[in-house]
Amino acid sequence: MASPVIIRVYASSEGVARRAVRAAYDRMHALEMTLSDWMPESESNRLEAAAPEAIQISDDLRHAITVSTALHHDTDGAFDPTIGPLVELWRRTRTTGEMPGSEEIRDARNRVDPTALELRGSTARIAREDVEIDFGAIGKGIALDAASEILDAHGLGRHLINFDGEILVGDAPPERTAWQITILPAGDEDTLVIDAVQASVATSGGLNQFFELDGTRYSHIIDPSTGIGTNCARQVTVICDSATRADALATAGCVLETTRFEAILTTRFQGASAIVMENHGDNTGITMIGDPRVRALDAP
Ligand code: ADP
Ligand code: MG
Repeated sequence: MASPVIIRVYASSEGVARRAVRAAYDRMHALEMTLSDWMPESESNRLEAAAPEAIQISDDLRHAITVSTALHHDTDGAFDPTIGPLVELWRRTRTTGEMPGSEEIRDARNRVDPTALELRGSTARIAREDVEIDFGAIGKGIALDAASEILDAHGLGRHLINFDGEILVGDAPPERTAWQITILPAGDEDTLVIDAVQASVATSGGLNQFFELDGTRYSHIIDPSTGIGTNCARQVTVICDSATRADALATAGCVLETTRFEAILTTRFQGASAIVMENHGDNTGITMIGDPRVRALDAP
């Protein structure tokens, strides 16, 4: 995942803190060796290389495939763990500045097929050789949840883990009722603060994260239903009790229209909330879904 991780804990001694944090980092590293797309030796890449044959897989890979498939279903396909070929196509587009042809998009879309991921007993297989796994929108969340479990097991329930801007918090710090997580504004809006305990906060999209081609903006998040980089000048923050779900849902929220995203979040993900920022030319509209317990900085 090659991104910075910051872990903050409150412990009775430095030794306790060091051991727990070391174990949490080790756990995250192990997950990276399992789920990484860019490490040729990762377990998910070995599963791809074996396709269409089945191989024995670890509990971690099984868990990642299981939750990814469930989230694909529960987001009506907006989150897709086999989006890889389209990601590659748009990554290339970004470098060359040349729009892919409709046939190229169609070919890549044909290779996006989560039904090809099959789990059976202790084995798994990808039924189609041309299908790839991409945990890019969920891997950080999975790693955060796993690291948090390790810190809890060491008795350090009061912790905060920041994985490249995606944040998980455990119990509140001493003498506080909550952690305060700030969400930086996209433009000149207020800085928002979320008061969080036992929660995760993931942000996707970003009003400044896009590239422009022939006057149209494309982001690195792709709409699986069209195969096109979402043209969304929008940023979606999801707050819920699982970093895994927060991660995938923030990505899905960039693909789905706000009303549809709201319906999905409120009916299928109890307790989850979101902040959707959409840029309309000169101003940015903010939609709150559920109760993100958010306030403007400096407000009481
Ligand atoms: P960040 O890049 O800030 O971690 P995300 O969590 O949204 O943001 O992850 C984006 C990555 O997820 C992309 O780089 C790509 O690998 C993958 N991705 C893009 N579109 C989708 C999608 N519709 N479903 C699942 N994964 C996606
Ligand atoms: Mg994500």
